[in-house]
Amino acid sequence: MKVKLLVLANSRKTGGRCLAGIRTDTLEWVRPVTAGNHNEMPTHTCLDSVTNRQIQPLDLIEIEITESVPLKYQRENWLYGPTPLRVLQHYKIEVVYPKLISKVEKQPWFLKDGKTRISPLDFRTYKTNAPSLSLLEVASAEIFHNQRGSRRISFKGGGNTWDLPFTDDLYAGPDGKVGRCLLTLSIGEEWHRDSDPADHGWHYKLVAALILLPEELAPDSSKPAADSLLAICGRLFGFVPKVSENRNQIGRFSTAGWFYQDLVRVNCELCGNPDLLVFRKHFKKYAKEMHYWGIVCGSCKTASDSKVFNKKFVAKINELIEAKTEVATVCTECISNSKNF
Ligand SMILES: [Zn+2]
Ligand SMILES: [Zn+2]
Repeated sequence: MKVKLLVLANSRKTGGRCLAGIRTDTLEWVRPVTAGNHNEMPTHTCLDSVTNRQIQPLDLIEIEITESVPLKYQRENWLYGPTPLRVLQHYKIEVVYPKLISKVEKQPWFLKDGKTRISPLDFRTYKTNAPSLSLLEVASAEIFHNQRGSRRISFKGGGNTWDLPFTDDLYAGPDGKVGRCLLTLSIGEEWHRDSDPADHGWHYKLVAALILLPEELAPDSSKPAADSLLAICGRLFGFVPKVSENRNQIGRFSTAGWFYQDLVRVNCELCGNPDLLVFRKHFKKYAKEMHYWGIVCGSCKTASDSKVFNKKFVAKINELIEAKTEVATVCTECISNSKNF
C-alpha cells in the first residue's frame, strides 16, 4: 500500500541508511526496511526520485510499504515496495509541530535506565515488541566529536544525562551547543565489537535526527497542556468538548498526560448516539497502576469522567475497549514500565 510518511530521520547505518517517519494517516511510526543483512535501506533508495537528493527530515514522502515485519527490538519495521520514493513537499517545523506534539515523549521507556545499550537477551524476555523510535523534545543539546573521531550528542532526557552516537549526517550544523530541538531516538541493530569476539552484540541507543525548534514554539503555560484531553481531542477530532464544572473536570481534562485509547460503539447516555471516544491518563494509587477515564461523545461533543455513569456502564465500555485496544499498549507510562513487554 502507498502511504504518506513525514520523515523524521534519514541517518547513516551499517550498509546503508536508516529511514524513519510517521504515517500521516495513522500517526504510527514506520521504519522502511529491505531484506538486507542489517535491514538497512540502500543509500540510493533514499534519494528523491525527482531531484536525486537524499530525503531529509521533515520531507513528506510517498512510499509503498508491503508488509509489517516487526522485530522484538524494532517493532516499527515495514518492508518497502519497489516504487522509487518521491518527496511531495518539505515542511517547516512550525507547520508540523502541532501535529507532532502527541508523538513527542517526555520519557521514552529506553531512556529510563541510564544505560547506553540494551542486551539482546533483555529483548527476549519482553512480552511484546518494544517501540524503538521516539521523538524527544529537549531544551538544549551539544554535538561534539569524541577522541575516536565519532560524532556524539549529549542531552538530558528521562532523568539522565546522555552521550550517544549522533548518526544524522544530513544535519549541517557545526559541533557545539544548540537550543530547543526535537531528537529522533532509535534503538540500533545488534552490533558486535570486532575487538571482542567473545562478547555478544548489543543494541545501541542513538540519535538519528536533530530538528531545531524556533524559540516561539516554547510551551505557553496559560493554555491547556499539549497532551491534555482537551488539546488532543481538538487536534485529533477537530473539536474541544464541552465539560461540566462538577468535580473540577475542566481542570483535570486540561492537565498533561492524557492519551486517546480508541472509539467504542456504545450509546451515549446524553444523546443516544453510539460514538464514544475514550481518553485515559495513567496514575498510581497504593502502588497500583491505574488510568483515569475521559469519555467524550463524538456526537453531542461532551466530555465526562467515569463518575457521571453507573459502574456497569463503565465496566461495559472497559470490556469493549480493552478487547479492541488494550490500554497498556497505548499508555506510554505502561509501555515505559518494562514489565509490560
Ligand atoms: Zn452524546
Ligand atoms: Zn498506563
